[in-house]
Amino acid sequence: MHSRLADANLLDIADKLDAGVRLTLEDGCRLFECPDLLAVGWLANREREKRHGPQTYFNFNIRLEATNVCVASCLFCAFARLKPGDAGAYTMSLEQVWDKLRQRRTQPLTEIHVVNGLHPELPFDYYTEMLRGFKRIRPDVRLKCFTAVEIAFFADLYGMTDEQVLHELIAAGLDSLPGGGAEIFAERVRRKIANDKCGSDRYLEIHRIAHRLGLKTNITMLYGHIETAEERVDHMLRARALQDETAGFQAFIPLAFHPDNNQMRKLPAPSAADTLRVHAVSRLMLDNIPHVKAFWIATGVEVAQTALWFGVDDLDGTVQEEKIYHMAGARTPEALTTREIERLILAAGRQPVERDTFYNPVVHEAAASLKSRSA
Ligand code: SF4
Repeated sequence: MHSRLADANLLDIADKLDAGVRLTLEDGCRLFECPDLLAVGWLANREREKRHGPQTYFNFNIRLEATNVCVASCLFCAFARLKPGDAGAYTMSLEQVWDKLRQRRTQPLTEIHVVNGLHPELPFDYYTEMLRGFKRIRPDVRLKCFTAVEIAFFADLYGMTDEQVLHELIAAGLDSLPGGGAEIFAERVRRKIANDKCGSDRYLEIHRIAHRLGLKTNITMLYGHIETAEERVDHMLRARALQDETAGFQAFIPLAFHPDNNQMRKLPAPSAADTLRVHAVSRLMLDNIPHVKAFWIATGVEVAQTALWFGVDDLDGTVQEEKIYHMAGARTPEALTTREIERLILAAGRQPVERDTFYNPVVHEAAASLKSRSA
């Protein structure tokens, strides 16, 4: 591999990684420009295996989008409808929301992941009651709900500080924040594609507060539209800087832009090669974030599987009923069973580990008693 890294002009970066020296903005840009994708992937895989060996995490979760009514108009979004009553707009009642969980009362779920549009008319207790209801139905299930963009919107709409909103939601049962809404932190891009939602500094500040209040969270990056390689690396470096302060991020999740049914439909979707590279460079730049996740709904199942050799150690979860990507043209299934995810991971030569929201391995009682009987 030495000569291949030398040919790819990556030996100095390999040496830095060996010595535990951090990669710079310039290093990150070189990794994006390097023609030898497999050499970049090899380096990322080495970092992945240093941290996790062959282990590949997934969880048994459901996604729920309670409303797609949203006052914002992000150019890449095919999910949102501006007003209640617009064609395709929906807002679920709390009973309908809770029914989604009641229907799965007997499934060994460990997490509910909720993200919504920014609805201008719902009261704050719609959200706090939603969490309380979930906990009544399934106290064992972790609630990873509301992006930092939603937290900022709640604070502005209901006249609270970001911290007060988080306090109230935690009191109602919130366990973690998902990473959505980060898009790209570079102001040039954010102004163009997501002008009317909270800015980068506030997104990061909300995660900073959440970490201080004891929540573990995730962070995303929407790639493959109008951003440059330098803006991608800048995004990663801003995540890395906050992680140095708080250590509260669990996973970095690159999200592939999907061009159907939105205002950026003239752009092509990112290629498989670009997707593999983005995940690999994320693993290399983010030396302090434990996990890099491939969201299979967005990347496609086959690319997510290949990404397990390009720095990725987490395949998200069973998901079930995802709407946001499917409305933007994702042709992936809407759900995978845990058995299917395990098979995908094993077929890629990796070792599946079912995890909970906080990356604790999950041992189902039935499997555990089977093992102890056969021991
Ligand atoms: S991405 Fe989120 S904030 Fe932006 S329009 Fe869609 S639902 Fe609204």
